[in-house]
Amino acid sequence: MKIVMLSAVCLCLVFTVSGLAEQTPQSLADAELPSLLAIYKDLHSHPELSGQEERTAALVAKELRAASCQVTDHFGKYENPKLKPYGVVGVMKNGDGPTVLVRTDMDALPVQEETGLPYASKVVAKNDEGKEVHVMHACGHDVHIAAFIGIARALEKLKDQWHGTIVFVAQPAEEIGTGARALLKDGLYDRFGKPNFALGFHDKADLETGHIGVTEGYTYANVDSVDVTVRGVGGHGAYPHKTKDPIVLAAEMINDWQTIASRENNPLDPIVVTVGSIHGGTKHNIIPDEVKMQLTVRTYKPETRQRVLAAIERIAKGIAAAGGVPSDRAPIVSVSEDLFCPATYNNPELTKRLIAIWKKALGDENVVIVDPTMGGEDFSEYSRPDHSVPSVDFHFGAVDPAKMAESKKTGKELPTLHSSKFAPVPEPTIRVAIIGMTTAVLDLMKKQGQTQVIR
Ligand SMILES: [Zn+2]
Ligand SMILES: [Zn+2]
Repeated sequence: MKIVMLSAVCLCLVFTVSGLAEQTPQSLADAELPSLLAIYKDLHSHPELSGQEERTAALVAKELRAASCQVTDHFGKYENPKLKPYGVVGVMKNGDGPTVLVRTDMDALPVQEETGLPYASKVVAKNDEGKEVHVMHACGHDVHIAAFIGIARALEKLKDQWHGTIVFVAQPAEEIGTGARALLKDGLYDRFGKPNFALGFHDKADLETGHIGVTEGYTYANVDSVDVTVRGVGGHGAYPHKTKDPIVLAAEMINDWQTIASRENNPLDPIVVTVGSIHGGTKHNIIPDEVKMQLTVRTYKPETRQRVLAAIERIAKGIAAAGGVPSDRAPIVSVSEDLFCPATYNNPELTKRLIAIWKKALGDENVVIVDPTMGGEDFSEYSRPDHSVPSVDFHFGAVDPAKMAESKKTGKELPTLHSSKFAPVPEPTIRVAIIGMTTAVLDLMKKQGQTQVIR
């Protein structure tokens, strides 16, 4: 009896003390972690392709509603009618103040999982062309969603520490670069307000878990998809003098396009021109009429982008003309506006501000500057082409430190994002993502004269 009474007193004390203790992003992340890990594993076993995120979007909508957001789902307008709009927008209002957009992506990839995890995906789905493909969260968007839900839960509980409106955006179709544009086209900023700041995050496959990594300025590149049709005059392979061989012309173009980076461009302003696909001809002894090529072109600055795209066309047409191709058979060079993804630019002032906040929250040694990449990320769309919405897209590490050390020792590369073997460690990765985003939002939305409790 005595023992029972004593433990009842103890319990009372514990509740009173925890009731009094100030809640922080850290304490809330810790409290939510078990439930978020369950959500993460569920999402990981149920990945969905771009434009098919029905189950994922329903889960996110339910969680945002539970965190007292006003939710709009089935949001987005695609050009491609095969994609269904599964965008989710959750608005969390807390009086007057700034508007901050917080974004996660939701889609998975056509990859057959080979991680061997107990919760590995076995999902097979039909892609746009109706072909059956294996599906996997090989880019870690499931980690992003679990953290995103944790962030909404934490910010709901921390309402005494911020004011304004948070617009939580769960974006579909990031992997095909069209989701953000679809949401903006459906009136994201007209209906929910143009934000004062936009924040995004991504896990990183070569950074230790527990760390935040960020780049000031350009962090991802402009991505252009260029189609080139080289038109010649076909004929017999034994009589080349009676033809204009588009295969030889294409070969010259491929080599000459590399001189755009090495001879025409400032080496301090990175660019990439990759010919990813080339098709022409049917048989050993026939010179075909045409060759088709597909290029991916990566740049940072808009003026560099224009110059590189113009150089690709100039070189293609120049080589064809030099080879004697009649002008009415000049190469056709087309740049796809639909597939264009603009460069992601981390506002330098905002980046510096957030670095200071993260160092306080996680310790100096856990916040690192990372190199920009020539990869693409349609988070860039939220800052608008003129960067008029100051934005930061930061990374958080997802790699087990022991695996990192082993890779350094052996020189064996770790699985990259999109690899069938990429397996982020959920803990403390999700925890750090929650702390990183929540502390950033609190700083941008803090009430006048209020200092943030971050440790
Ligand atoms: Zn990806
Ligand atoms: Zn991704």
